[in-house]
Amino acid sequence: MTQLERRQWDVVVVGAGGAGLRAAIEARERGARTAVICKSLFGKAHTVMAEGGIAASMGNVNSGDNWRVHFRDTLRGGKFLNQWRMAELHAQEAPDRVWELETWGALFDRTPDGKISQRNFGGHEYPRLAHVGDRTGLELIRTLQQKIVALQQEDFREYGDYEARLKVYQECTVTRILKEDGAEGGDSEDGGRVAGAFCYERESGRFFVLEAPSVVLATGGIGKSFKVTSNSWEYTGDGHALALLAGAPLLNMEFVQFHPTGMVWPPSVKGILVTESVRGDGGVLRNSEGKRFMFDYIPDVFKEKYAESEDEGDRWYEDPDHNRRPPELLPRDEVARAINSEVKAGRGSPHGGVFLDVSTRMPAEVVRRRLPSMYHQFKELADVDITAEAMEVGPTCHYVMGGIAVDSETAAAPGVAGLYAAGEVAGGMHGSNRLGGNSLSDLLVFGRRAGLHAAAYAAGLDVRPAPDEGQIDAAAAEALRPFGAGEASRGDAVGPDGPGDRPAENPYTLHQELQQTMNDLVGIIRREQEMEQALEKLAELRVRAGRAGVEGHRQFNPGWHLALDLRNMLLVSECVARAALERTESRGGHTREDWPGMDSDWRRVNLYCRLAGTEEGAATDPAAGRIALTRRTTEPIRPDLLALFDKEELVKYLAEEELHE
Ligand code: FAD
Repeated sequence: MTQLERRQWDVVVVGAGGAGLRAAIEARERGARTAVICKSLFGKAHTVMAEGGIAASMGNVNSGDNWRVHFRDTLRGGKFLNQWRMAELHAQEAPDRVWELETWGALFDRTPDGKISQRNFGGHEYPRLAHVGDRTGLELIRTLQQKIVALQQEDFREYGDYEARLKVYQECTVTRILKEDGAEGGDSEDGGRVAGAFCYERESGRFFVLEAPSVVLATGGIGKSFKVTSNSWEYTGDGHALALLAGAPLLNMEFVQFHPTGMVWPPSVKGILVTESVRGDGGVLRNSEGKRFMFDYIPDVFKEKYAESEDEGDRWYEDPDHNRRPPELLPRDEVARAINSEVKAGRGSPHGGVFLDVSTRMPAEVVRRRLPSMYHQFKELADVDITAEAMEVGPTCHYVMGGIAVDSETAAAPGVAGLYAAGEVAGGMHGSNRLGGNSLSDLLVFGRRAGLHAAAYAAGLDVRPAPDEGQIDAAAAEALRPFGAGEASRGDAVGPDGPGDRPAENPYTLHQELQQTMNDLVGIIRREQEMEQALEKLAELRVRAGRAGVEGHRQFNPGWHLALDLRNMLLVSECVARAALERTESRGGHTREDWPGMDSDWRRVNLYCRLAGTEEGAATDPAAGRIALTRRTTEPIRPDLLALFDKEELVKYLAEEELHE
């Protein structure tokens, strides 16, 4: 039995971004003793990078907005594959979550009459994104952290201990969800009960266990499996993999969002995001011939809603009630594909992107005031003054719509009692494509719900599950394996089938090969043969990752951390590739060159990924696929929600039989 420090909590929240912090606040306010654990510094979650704003139909700038319009836009953006009840709750509750942030001290930009200002974004019918310049995520995280500190001060007054009911473990990583005795996880419907999390401290390498009957996963996305990405180092799909390994399924992992506008130059910053607010505030896209090419790429399903001429598009900024919006504000998947086509047709910018211009659209001081981060980003990283010249931009892997399958109301993962998920790690809310601004609101709406239900579940238990000791020992051995591979490579082989028979692999090399594979073969435009190749390459990488070796010791050792993250990235990448190969249509963030159309029969299909590791042989043969796919029919959309759309529009999305029903 491994001897290590153990702490008991009611709820453990894995991740300290917007979703994790909102979940932790709710759980603690409901009386649960709550721990938050994050692998980066407290405050350095991905949420802090969010720029453009948070979508909520407050109607401050256009009183025509309300939750029904927001719901409708979200379903259109997701091409009707959204878990509709989530989209409904999200649209209904987002305004309250924004107003609540204000009561906790957030300072949003204002309209001239003093209301929270709201800006335009792609796919949103009205100006809907509450914002703080282009640094909205920073304000969101600052406010949630401030609320956490306030709760800790309350505890100090009551118990003489700031961390009595809410503690943050920063720079600590969870590598396994622990279950109670006898519940191993795998592919059964009854995946047992959660009992805690196995963790290590990044600085010291020390292992510890957080025991708790409820665990909320809020670990964000998977972008670091792709070479060109706006995501930072934490986004290695940990929560997705932890859920799979604990026996919970992932939903629709083929849907990965490639944001249309990442930096393309210089190479060291390729992929860094150029916020959509640049287009929301009037920026336009041009090709090397100076043409505003987006007018050539308005798909039929959106034709009625978008301007036909540049003049009409430009008038819309001043008079949205009598003009249609410019096609630069189409949903992200459409714009990303259009840019890709222009570059492929030889009309790209010198460094393989297209031009995004604000310099000819607004005065320099307005650019600096409304887009301060973009101004500095380009000045400092690319030596480009965006008030005087156009930016070069191209698609970058940005967000994953697929994620842990959750119950819409409670955020509970099916089949594993006590497991919850919220934020980018959870699937369903955004369907096949997320609208900009809908992530920050998603974090708050479902972070709150996850915290609430995780706390209620823990409070309702008579007997708490105790973690299985065998699982703790196995988690410790798994985490130490890369050091064994390192020793083996120096001639100290560990056995006939063990890592020592072949030289150890460098985790950085494996990571680079994985990123290149996913970028080239499962990227923005997908083909059957290439995805099959990707699956073969992933199998090879899985075998080699079993020999990922590191030198040195456990004190802050980034190579070791990456070796552990590789397991997660490989699992998640296999989910993406398998699901993308299976779905023979193009929809939202999933574009098949060999199946270019959207197929309404596929609208009824959700693809679930589960771990296939319990099957005979699969667990021991790393070359065998680890993911099993199943299809499930989507739940019919409630009639009163369908009634929000015109019949002609529904005909474009729904299957024949659904229309009859
Ligand atoms: P995160 O904020 O990423 O938090 C994840 C947390 O999990 C981190 O604390 C991390 O350390 C922790 N973690 C991960 N793995 C582990 C582990 N194994 N153990 C312990 N801890 C772990 N969305 C919008 O709606 N509006 C915008 O304007 C917007 N702008 C964006 C700009 C950029 C540059 C980017 C990259 C994204 C933007 N997004 C925006 C998307 C949005 O920011 C993210 O989807 C959202 O912040 C995700 O929040 P989260 O709480 O799910 O995860």
